[in-house]
Amino acid sequence: MTPHTSTWQTELAAAFTKPSHLLRYLNINSHTASTLAEQDFAMRVPLSYAACMEKGNLNDPLLKQVLPHANELIQYTNYSHDAVGDLSALTEDCIIHKYQGRVLFITTGGCAINCRFCFRRNFPYSEVQLNKQKEVRVLQYLHNHEDIHEVILSGGDPLLLNDQRLKHLIDQCAAIAHIKRIRIHTRIPIVLPARITNNLIDILSNAALPIVLVTHCNHVNELSEQVVTACLALKKQNITLLNQSVLLKDINDNAKILQELSEGLFNCGVLPYYLHLLDKATGTGHFEVQQEQALKIHQQLQNNLPGYLVPKLVKEQAGEASKTLLI
Ligand SMILES: *Cc1c(COP(=O)(O)O)cnc(C)c1O
Ligand code: SF4
Repeated sequence: MTPHTSTWQTELAAAFTKPSHLLRYLNINSHTASTLAEQDFAMRVPLSYAACMEKGNLNDPLLKQVLPHANELIQYTNYSHDAVGDLSALTEDCIIHKYQGRVLFITTGGCAINCRFCFRRNFPYSEVQLNKQKEVRVLQYLHNHEDIHEVILSGGDPLLLNDQRLKHLIDQCAAIAHIKRIRIHTRIPIVLPARITNNLIDILSNAALPIVLVTHCNHVNELSEQVVTACLALKKQNITLLNQSVLLKDINDNAKILQELSEGLFNCGVLPYYLHLLDKATGTGHFEVQQEQALKIHQQLQNNLPGYLVPKLVKEQAGEASKTLLI
């Protein structure tokens, strides 16, 4: 902890963690959240994200992403606790090296928000929590594997680390000669834009290697003025900005919404990268969009948008050497 608590840290500490409080804030009768689902995976919603929701609307597409629901208790076939084979790929503490040339570096187990559809809800993060010894081993692993050219800081959400920790990890990775790029996968610019401070932007823009930042935005309503400002500030410092979304039933499984999302992202300097089919993680089956439907939606995007605003439709299959392109 830094001696001064920043605004973003205060906002994070004040995040909604009780469905009844969030629902009251939204003027919705509070009998609708599932406490059983909540016990399984706690609710967490920063105020700046809740502020993008429509008051009084239980079907709000942002609320649906975060409110614990009894449907999470349904057992769907083919859903499991290790849907994408991450556990078997954890070759080293905090490292997932499944793909050629790049590795995921799990820097923290926490996120600023808990998304109900996330594979992370089942991941044993406490067992891979980064500490000093593990950090040394990770860096040694990166050193030893000269075929690794890109380190992807992941989690959890790496932007939950404080500035000093983040800068330290970036500097350590950048000091390894065969590493050419550092990528950060984060939902924080979208759900806690106050985290994008001038100091953070300085750290990223002054890094010794190019930084690619992949945001995780699922719906155009998530692009508040504050989010737009944060993304444009990063863009202005030559940070490459990409976005990945997850296709979610009754949330964004609609070409019009995704089209608006792509256009909205472009206006904040972010290009669409991936549109993911849901990972089949236990507790998330009610969010699934069938592949056939996904292909239809994607075709409509292809018809209606310039090619550079069409995200690649992909799914992750355990054991494959990359994500699988669906078209
Ligand atoms: C998604 C992912 C990557 C990055 O893949 P890209 O196609 O380069 O975005 C790397 N490692 C793992 C384990 C992944 O799941
Ligand atoms: S990893 Fe991403 S999708 Fe999962 S809970 Fe964190 S922010 Fe949400």
